[in-house]
Amino acid sequence: MKDLEKRVRQLERILAVNVELVSNPQQSSLLTKIAQTAAELTESESASILLLDERTGDLRFCAAATTEVASLLSEIPVPVTHSIAGTVLRERQPMVVHNVQADPRHFREVGQAIGFETRSLLAVPLQVQERCIGVLEAVNKRCGSFTDEDREILTILAAQAAVAIENARLLEELQKAHRKLQELDRLKSDFITIASHELRTPLSLILGYASLLQEQQRGSRELEGVLRAAVRLQHIIETMVNLRYLETGELPFRYEEFNLCDEVAQACQIHAALAEASGLTLDAVIPEEPIRIRADREKIRLVLDNLLSNAIKFTPSGGKVRVKVEERYGNAEITVMDTGVGIPQEALEHIFERFYQVESPMTRRRGGLGLGLSVVREIVEKHGGRVWAESVLGRGSRFTVRLPLTPSR
Ligand code: ADP
Repeated sequence: MKDLEKRVRQLERILAVNVELVSNPQQSSLLTKIAQTAAELTESESASILLLDERTGDLRFCAAATTEVASLLSEIPVPVTHSIAGTVLRERQPMVVHNVQADPRHFREVGQAIGFETRSLLAVPLQVQERCIGVLEAVNKRCGSFTDEDREILTILAAQAAVAIENARLLEELQKAHRKLQELDRLKSDFITIASHELRTPLSLILGYASLLQEQQRGSRELEGVLRAAVRLQHIIETMVNLRYLETGELPFRYEEFNLCDEVAQACQIHAALAEASGLTLDAVIPEEPIRIRADREKIRLVLDNLLSNAIKFTPSGGKVRVKVEERYGNAEITVMDTGVGIPQEALEHIFERFYQVESPMTRRRGGLGLGLSVVREIVEKHGGRVWAESVLGRGSRFTVRLPLTPSR
């Protein structure tokens, strides 16, 4: 009866430790907790955890129940081939040694270094699936010898500990990867800021001189070409800067109430010449009744310009582009449809990502940075709206922007 009560208490303790292990993913305190529980449950003078150092192939003390010696222990590598812990790791079997000093496998350097004599020892492997990541050992049973029961208890604790250690390791790796990504993101943003800043100044110089020369030599086709190229470059830089500012929230939104129909009509009017030059028809379906929205007019215009220029860019000569604006269930909805090249289904969810382009940059025939749609999505979502694309490859695409009439923010 007494044995049974003791057993129940031990299991309760293991359960409590388990809860703690799950809720406390801090590696160092976690390991100490496991070692202390191991010593307590097996009624031993101490217990420790050794983990395999993948780099050196040695075992390393990572925690001890007696915390005073933990840092000393951590400096002593334990060879896997010449130690009891190493044998347990290699054979993946628990081991009880009643007379450690008489055992030839005993690695004496540790005891000598910390002034501790190991008499008896119980060691169990720490296993994660097929891998053995270390050893949990209890030393010097206070009364009598280690029993089968001690071995069972330590094995249960080791199973939980191995999972907790592995989880903590994975979490650490994940955090490291996250920090690395954040750093890369910052570097990218810095690069965009610096590059666009450095490009802006010489570009405005080129633009200035080219305009001046054009005024002096009206009708020069070469100069027209230079000017067009410079304006395109300016557009690319502005897009990069806009996206960066939108992301960091440095680009303030100026909300005003206006008629969306006017804005769509104007955008269509401006793009009509470009559509015509590309051999396309562009028509707009705009209701008579105004659709008044509260939004940042300039940024909505940027959305329209991007969608329209894409539709024109990706529709071969002879095709059609149609823009429609309507009020639906308390939202304003703009659709830009084209009869162009279309977008493969698997690419539809990616086209709004930064720098994503369906065609590879090396083989693509159309210009662009792959940033236009990210700017579109960023702006629409900041207005509390949504944007999505539907398409049939080879038949055409339809982009829909849904904007609340009055934004929630
Ligand atoms: P860019 O046009 O500068 O490449 P975007 O971000 O505007 O960048 O668009 C990303 C990609 O989505 C384009 O490269 C193109 O592959 C695809 N795409 C966008 N609009 C259309 C469209 N109307 N028809 C076909 N493909 C499109």
